[in-house]
Amino acid sequence: MHGRVEGATGRCAVPGCRALGEYKAPVQPANFDGPGVYTLLCLDHVREHNSKYNFFDGMSAEQIAEAQSPIAGWDRSTRAFASAGADPAPSWSDFSDPLDAISARFRHVRREQSSRFTAAERRALSVLGLGEDATLKAVRSQYSKLVRRFHPDRNGGDRSHEKQLGEVIDAYQALKKAAGFA
Ligand SMILES: [Zn+2]
Repeated sequence: MHGRVEGATGRCAVPGCRALGEYKAPVQPANFDGPGVYTLLCLDHVREHNSKYNFFDGMSAEQIAEAQSPIAGWDRSTRAFASAGADPAPSWSDFSDPLDAISARFRHVRREQSSRFTAAERRALSVLGLGEDATLKAVRSQYSKLVRRFHPDRNGGDRSHEKQLGEVIDAYQALKKAAGFA
């Protein structure tokens, strides 16, 4: 699980530790602004580092392997996180301590995963201007309100809202059978 560096000769980066630093400890994940940044630690200290900061919390085995890769394709993992519904990565300057940024990021991913709605259903809710706390009743009511607003028959034949009307209809189709309302 830990990225062991073959032929490492340097000492563990923990001050005072005399053991060989042969395990990569991520101090910045690979999916922020560039390739990951690592420090080299001994086995004991890399274990302590990982458990202390829960760096791998919420990550799949594949994502962990990718984060540990020396040529981590940060572009690829950024897309993986984006499709998992995470917000764009917070920038490092938003946090006084980079490790706060790591935990903020993964706290968010965990919250997304626990949503009662799929990513497509969450997009549909936002098309209707609703949040994840919406009830099916609110969805129906907002749907009929927006259809009235955008329908050409209600706008003196004005077809300029057809695209929005189509999006509203698609959103309702996606939501009316959403398991999250069951
Ligand atoms: Zn050490």
